[in-house]
Formats: sequence, structure tokens, C-alpha cells
Amino acid sequence: MDKKVVVFSQLNREILTQLEQKYEVAVVDPRQGDVNQQILKLVENADGMIGAGRLLNETNLHTAERLKVISSVSVGYDNYDLNYLNSKKIWLCNTPHVLTETTADLAFTLILSAARRVPELDRWTKGGQWKRTVATAQFGQDIHAKTLGIIGLGNIGAALAKRGHYGFGMNILYHNRHEKPESAQVFNAQYCTLPELLKKSDFIVVAVDLNTDSKALIGKDEFALMQPHAVFVNIARGSVVDENALVQALKTEQIFAAGLDVYASEPLQESELFDLSNVVTLPHIGSATAETRKKMAQLAYDNLVSVLDGTLPEATVNPLFSHN
Ligand code: NAP
Repeated sequence: MDKKVVVFSQLNREILTQLEQKYEVAVVDPRQGDVNQQILKLVENADGMIGAGRLLNETNLHTAERLKVISSVSVGYDNYDLNYLNSKKIWLCNTPHVLTETTADLAFTLILSAARRVPELDRWTKGGQWKRTVATAQFGQDIHAKTLGIIGLGNIGAALAKRGHYGFGMNILYHNRHEKPESAQVFNAQYCTLPELLKKSDFIVVAVDLNTDSKALIGKDEFALMQPHAVFVNIARGSVVDENALVQALKTEQIFAAGLDVYASEPLQESELFDLSNVVTLPHIGSATAETRKKMAQLAYDNLVSVLDGTLPEATVNPLFSHN
């Protein structure tokens, strides 16, 4: 075992065993103190890293002398300083596609839950408040045949459009930086500017990757354009949305409801959102099913092994340099 791999978050047990059979493995353990200090020490002589959910940049990687690859168990790669990794010729791999359908399922779960007020009315029922037939105070919004506006018609956005179009007979609008005519045609989706989409949609779902253009994409002005019955869903990244503006929009009933899986700061321990009944808050579980997390871990493992074996990984974020 001449190569060393650092595992920087929890990893599927079977994949960890596969790693241990092939490499010297060191696991970062938050119970053992400061995580960044552990990383600085462990990466000194590491060849690869695998994991998710940690900020990795020059601050905690500068001691790495022979690091060749960071294999992220996620599709989003906003946690990594790509410029720094490029400058050091460190490959960054991710896990697209294998989580697309599962995350789209979750996005639709949020649409349904927020529109039909599922968690709120579940608490209401269990709290013994169901004393007579429900009335307008408990009514929600229809979903079928409404207009679904998707911001970011990428892999997950398209899987969501499929559910809306074929499953619920919804009219699909989308907004991207570049039009996607081929993908759009499948769902009869219509391209809109962002303001147009916000004004016309009954349901608005954010499914962009976090980048310099999408940071704070939805704020006060954007909520002001939405219809009072609109349901807003974010499964992308928290920083795409101005959370204070969202809280205000929900408090003042500028929009009907929201469904959130992601937040500017995670894990979310305290938030004004927790005091509001018209928002469904989930703990970043878009891809969190047993099957999909296993597939993601396997793909991340395969990517890591490919780079360390000197072959091309299946999914890379920065395929800029050749092996040497
Ligand atoms: P993807 O296929 O790369 O799709 C992202 C789409 O966003 C692209 O079509 C891109 O198109 C569009 N986009 C980027 N910036 C934009 C902007 N400023 N305005 C409008 N559109 C923009 O990625 P994916 O696999 O669908 O995943 C999307 C993101 O979802 C990931 O990056 C990740 O952050 C998040 N995610 C969350 C979970 C979860 O657990 N909640 C799970 C998986 C993924 P253009 O470049 O043409 O604009």
C-alpha cells in the first residue's frame, strides 16, 4: 500500500472497506478536535481525499505535497476552491447523474408538502385541533395543471420538469443563462427571463449550481415579483437565496409558502424560519436515500481510484491536465 487516502467525512461502510483494502486510509474525526488541523496534518503525505460537506481550500490544504485528487461525494462543488486546486494540478471529481432522480423526487416532495401544507397539518392533527371538518384556514393550493417555473434546467431541473409535465400536467417555464432547446422540447418547456418566470409561475424551483452568477440570485426584488399564491422551493444551495428576504416574503404572505432543503449556513440550528408555519424545512436530504448515497460513494470511489491509477475518471470538474 504505497498510496494514502484521507477520508474527510462519513463514508459508506462498504466503500470504506474497499478503500482500506487498496490504500493506507486515514479518517478525519470531528470528535478528535479541530477538523482543519487534522486535515492539514493528514494531507501532508496523502495522494487522494474523499468525502463531502467540508470547505477545502489553501487554508487547510497548503501542507499537501503530493495530493493528486479530491473525490467529492456530491454533485455540487462549491465547497472547493477550484482555482487553487487547478493551480496545484489537483483533480476534483464529483458524482453527477446518480443522484438526479432522487433529488428531483425530493424537490417534488417539497412542492407537494408546501402547497398542501402537509407538515403543518400533520402537527395540527396530532395536536388535537381537528374538531370539525376543515375549512378555508386549512386549504392549500392545487398542483396539477399549474405553471412550474424551473430556475436551472440542468440534470435535476429536467428530472423535475419530467415529473411536472408527465405526472401532473403542468405547464413548464424555465430560466438558465443559456437556453436549452433540446431539453426544453421534451417537456414543452418555454424559456423565460428570470422576471418573466417569477411573475408567471405558480411554483418556482431553484435547481442551479452555486456560482458567481447564481449567488444571491433570489432576493427582495425577486420575491416582490412572485404571485401571492406562489410556492417557492430551493433544493440547490442556500446562498442562491437571500434568506432574510425569504423570511420577510413568508411573514408578510407576499408568497404562499416555501419548501427548503438547503440554507446559507448548515447545519441550521436556529432560524426565524422555524417560527413560520408556511415553510417546510428539511435538513439537506436531496440525495439522502440508502440506494443513492451508496451509488454516490461508489462513483466517488471509482473516480478516486481512476485518478490514482492514472486513468481518466468518469466525472471530473476540472479535466484540465493530463496525468504525469
Ligand atoms: P447541472 O446539470 O449542472 O445543472 C445546473 C443548471 O443550472 C445548469 O443547467 C446551468 O445552466 C444552470 N445555471 C447555473 N447558473 C445559473 C444562473 N445564474 N441562472 C440560471 N441558471 C443557471 O447540475 P445538477 O446535477 O442539476 O445539480 C444542480 C445543483 O443542485 C448542484 O450543483 C447542487 O448544488 C444542487 N444539489 C443539491 C442537492 C441536495 O441535496 N439538495 C442534491 C444534488 C444537487 P447554464 O449554465 O446555462 O446557466
